[in-house]
Amino acid sequence: MAQQTQAVAKKQMRQPIESGCPDGMQYMHPLMIKNFGNWKYHDRPRPGVLHHVAYSGDEIWTVRAGTQRQLGPYEINLLCDIIDQYGEGYVRFTIRSNMEVMVSEWDKVGPLIQAFNDAGYPVGGTGNSVTMIAHTQGWLHCDIPGTDASGVVKSLMDELHGEFIKEEMPNRVHITTSCCQINCGGQGDIAINVQYTKPPKINHDLVANVCERPSVVARCPVAAIRPAIVNGKPSLEVDEKKCICCGACYPPCPPMQINDPEHTKLAIWVGGKNSNARSKPMFQKLVAAGIPNNPPRWPEVAAVVKNILYTYKKDARDWERVGDWVERIGWPRFFELTGLPFTKFHIDNWRGARNSLNASTHIRF
Ligand code: SF4
Ligand code: SF4
Repeated sequence: MAQQTQAVAKKQMRQPIESGCPDGMQYMHPLMIKNFGNWKYHDRPRPGVLHHVAYSGDEIWTVRAGTQRQLGPYEINLLCDIIDQYGEGYVRFTIRSNMEVMVSEWDKVGPLIQAFNDAGYPVGGTGNSVTMIAHTQGWLHCDIPGTDASGVVKSLMDELHGEFIKEEMPNRVHITTSCCQINCGGQGDIAINVQYTKPPKINHDLVANVCERPSVVARCPVAAIRPAIVNGKPSLEVDEKKCICCGACYPPCPPMQINDPEHTKLAIWVGGKNSNARSKPMFQKLVAAGIPNNPPRWPEVAAVVKNILYTYKKDARDWERVGDWVERIGWPRFFELTGLPFTKFHIDNWRGARNSLNASTHIRF
């Protein structure tokens, strides 16, 4: 008997999966499980609403609302109440932090949109709109940011709200922001990335206590860091002529102070895309640098982004992404149309990247 109980207990033991996200099927709307892989077509009855029709004749409507991504308990409770009351209790998040709520009747769509709007959450972000800006963690979660990516996003989306709830762009516009220069930022049609402009200032009193010096030396992509004894203590020194101000030494060694209210700036890159629809994926290119990192509303960044966005809206042909548009008109015309200053820093087309980037483990001096 005891052996039998033991065997049952062993059989029911939980699988040791301790990483990764849980199986999404268990949270899916029942109509989506029923028709999984059997959808006939989909359309968009209005901005922010997707409509899918299955071969079985079942229909489902998905309402997409923008969120601030970093949700507190108040916002989570508020949104869950809306989803329970006006939706059918099922929700999923998109990679750009939009929330999608599925309902099985068209009649439920209007009241659900109204409830979101009344709570201050816009419905949109589908089709040829400026969807929610993808951003990195910022001051709230990460220990190395030079700006608050989520703050830049909030202030920009306040200004671009009209483009989120409509589908009036030539094609979809993906904007991204990144709060340091080296880690998790992505690329986009328009990308706002931190740009460090000065080598790190070293707090020599702390280096010996906080940093593993060989790892810091190894981190530098241009071999600009050397061990040194300063004021009788083991520390580090930076060859400022070599330093490219990348900030890579700061995460393993916070006394390498790279962040600075005046010299940490923002740069704007244009024309990146990951998709291969209609044209091949493209790398973004730098178009504006040295923009003040000016919280809480970053007005200078908003001005440049809006300038690029509305020039694109006016000049691009239907279905051209920002990168396609620039490829057609050429970079000189892009700078002419936007009025952004063109400098010598804008001309790298990465053709010589094999030689100019540190693409191997060998260090070049
Ligand atoms: S981009 Fe850099 S600072 Fe921002 S969350 Fe990622 S690692 Fe942290
Ligand atoms: S900022 Fe970058 S290039 Fe400069 S010392 Fe640090 S790791 Fe090296």
